[in-house]
Amino acid sequence: MATHTDPVPGGRPGDAERATALRSQLSERDVHGIVLAFVDTAGVTRVKTIPTARLEQATAWGVGMSPVFDTFLADDSIVRAGELGSPDGDLRLFPDLDRLVVLAGQPGWAWAPVDRITQEGERHPACARTFLRRVVADAGRQHGLTFEAAIEIEWMIGLRSGTDDRFVPATSGPAYGATRQIELSDYVVELLAALAAQGVDVEQVHPEYAAGQFEVSVGPLDPVDAADRSVLVRQTIRAVAANHGLRVSFAPAVTAGGVGNGGHVHLSAWRDGTNLHSGGSRRYGMTAEAESFAAGLLAHMLALTAVTAPSPASYLRLRPSRWAGAFAVWGRETREAAVRVITGTTGRGGRAANLEVKPVDLAANPYLALGCLLVAGLDGLRSSMTLPQEVTGDPARFTGAEAEALGVRRLPTTLREAVGEFRGDGTLREALGPVLADAVTAVRLGEADAVAGLEDESVAAAYRWVY
Ligand code: GLU
Ligand code: MG
Repeated sequence: MATHTDPVPGGRPGDAERATALRSQLSERDVHGIVLAFVDTAGVTRVKTIPTARLEQATAWGVGMSPVFDTFLADDSIVRAGELGSPDGDLRLFPDLDRLVVLAGQPGWAWAPVDRITQEGERHPACARTFLRRVVADAGRQHGLTFEAAIEIEWMIGLRSGTDDRFVPATSGPAYGATRQIELSDYVVELLAALAAQGVDVEQVHPEYAAGQFEVSVGPLDPVDAADRSVLVRQTIRAVAANHGLRVSFAPAVTAGGVGNGGHVHLSAWRDGTNLHSGGSRRYGMTAEAESFAAGLLAHMLALTAVTAPSPASYLRLRPSRWAGAFAVWGRETREAAVRVITGTTGRGGRAANLEVKPVDLAANPYLALGCLLVAGLDGLRSSMTLPQEVTGDPARFTGAEAEALGVRRLPTTLREAVGEFRGDGTLREALGPVLADAVTAVRLGEADAVAGLEDESVAAAYRWVY
């Protein structure tokens, strides 16, 4: 069971004993180093590492790191947002011992996500993991709700070709084709073994649509754990690829003009062990609360893209007719809708019914993305929002007048447009708090400025090997 409470300088009761026991177990397993990982506002995973012998010290007092990363851009340049982005100050990274895992793809290493607090022991207002923990805890307290979440991971596998930064697919053959599974057999099976050794319950892995693209889906967890897992799974995918001389990219668009990498989010709300998305009196068995939750997601979807599709490259992916969910509509099993209602197979809905949010990619900070999606859904629930008319099929087929009559809105087509929507969304900004909301705005505008005037192919190239 997750503790998910704020770290305390000096350690919470029991922390010291846990750290000592873990340190000796790790040493026995020849683990010499521990990766401490967090995701910055731009969506880049940043790390510090410590020798295993330092685990007790790090658990009690954290590890120092500048707050400057909250306003780092994907190219490692820095923008300012209030106090953030200056060379001053320090934060402490506290590993979550409950989530420490021995990395099967990187022998000798363990990994743990961190919470970041100030030197004075206070919550750091720009810590995305702390934000998500707070949103989940508040929903439990105020509404008696818990959530299940899972983030799908799509990635492109390329050959490592000298210093050339182009993408050369590591496999050929048709989408979903057996050829690809055969050609990358050793890599994928080693990946499955590594994930299993790390306790990740993989549901399926398959060759996806684009050249060299694969996808893995994992079982649902509490949102904080689901975000942690997304970071861990990507670390593992990359590490195992490196062992095979391969290069991977989770970038939203590895090349311009084709299908991109999505990071679709599956989300369901539960009360007292009962799934609210099944067995209710509303359409497709939704309860009134589940319908309102879905309606809240849709109502905030345009602003949400500033968080769920945070890179200029995200807008090369977020285009119609690519199953990326480029329209703010919902539909049962509709893969072009931003919100796909999944009812599950007859007889299994109580377990499997959920909402899939499509306009999310893997440049998104998973903690920010899940936190903001929950905030949007909960806003719908509080205001008893109802869903508009269902839209099935590809909304791209509608003329402008038809789309307007049906209330079909296209999601932002540029990052700058998404920031405009985000700035106008008081609910999201208030939930994030001024520091985090300003960091999101400043980083997104910084990214937009960084690629101003570039052709699509150059935008794809700029982010190709960042994520
Ligand atoms: N690659 C698509 C995307 O960009 C998703 C394909 C699928 O539905 O799995 O989101
Ligand atoms: Mg897919």
